[in-house]
Amino acid sequence: MKPILLLGGITEALAIARTLGPQHIYSLAGVGRVPTDLTCQVRVGGYGGAEGLARFIGEHGIDLLLDATHPYAAQISHNAATAARMTGIRCWALRRPAWQAQAGDDWREVADWSELVDALQPFRRPLFTLGREPLQHLHEIPPEQFWTLRALDVYPGNDRCEVIGARGPFLIEDERALFERRQIDVLISKNSGSSATEPKLEVARERGVPVLVLKRPVLPGVGREFRSVSEVLAALSV
Ligand code: NAP
Repeated sequence: MKPILLLGGITEALAIARTLGPQHIYSLAGVGRVPTDLTCQVRVGGYGGAEGLARFIGEHGIDLLLDATHPYAAQISHNAATAARMTGIRCWALRRPAWQAQAGDDWREVADWSELVDALQPFRRPLFTLGREPLQHLHEIPPEQFWTLRALDVYPGNDRCEVIGARGPFLIEDERALFERRQIDVLISKNSGSSATEPKLEVARERGVPVLVLKRPVLPGVGREFRSVSEVLAALSV
């Protein structure tokens, strides 16, 4: 098989990387853990935009660009589609299906931070599970709110915000305990579609807690799109 450049950063990407031989490259931005037990090559860090990525593709004789990045990592997905066009190679993508609201769910979609702040007004004890972005807004917390913010790592909070550092997968019992302990009255989440972070939605449903869902970004069209690791592996094996 000719060299594949696999753009990763999510669990499914690592599962694909584990199946790849030494001629292939698994590419990570460098924000999370870097695996050291893979047979394929691992490259860490950005390329300097679509042009840099196109240059790398040319220099390394890449034949297929496989975008298995997070659904909210829109920049790298756009760069991948552009670089593939520039170099005339194929670009395939693993696009995780979004979570769907179920009966009884109170999900409210917000487009950006300013819509989110407006939607938060009626609530007092939000749980943010958006990553680091809310850290920039800790000085804007209204006096009537106390925020709980969960990110991959711990960061300093303030007297109206506690930051929890935790990595999924999360267990439903732990999520139940978190909502109870902190008396969470609204959950803020991306629609990542990941089973590892889904239990919080189940707990919100059980407790009748509304969920403010950050809208998914629009991603570029690519040659082939897959919904699961097994679909990708099946396509790679033919
Ligand atoms: P982003 O905004 O789409 O990308 C920002 C820049 O990071 C890209 O322009 C690129 O730099 C570099 N980059 C991103 N993914 C890369 C990869 N796989 N290999 C090499 N360079 C990469 O992405 P983001 O939202 O900051 O996320 C960064 C990474 O974390 C992604 O790989 C994503 O899969 C993962 N992740 C993101 C989220 C999320 O909620 N956004 C959640 C879990 C995991 P250059 O332009 O210099 O090439």
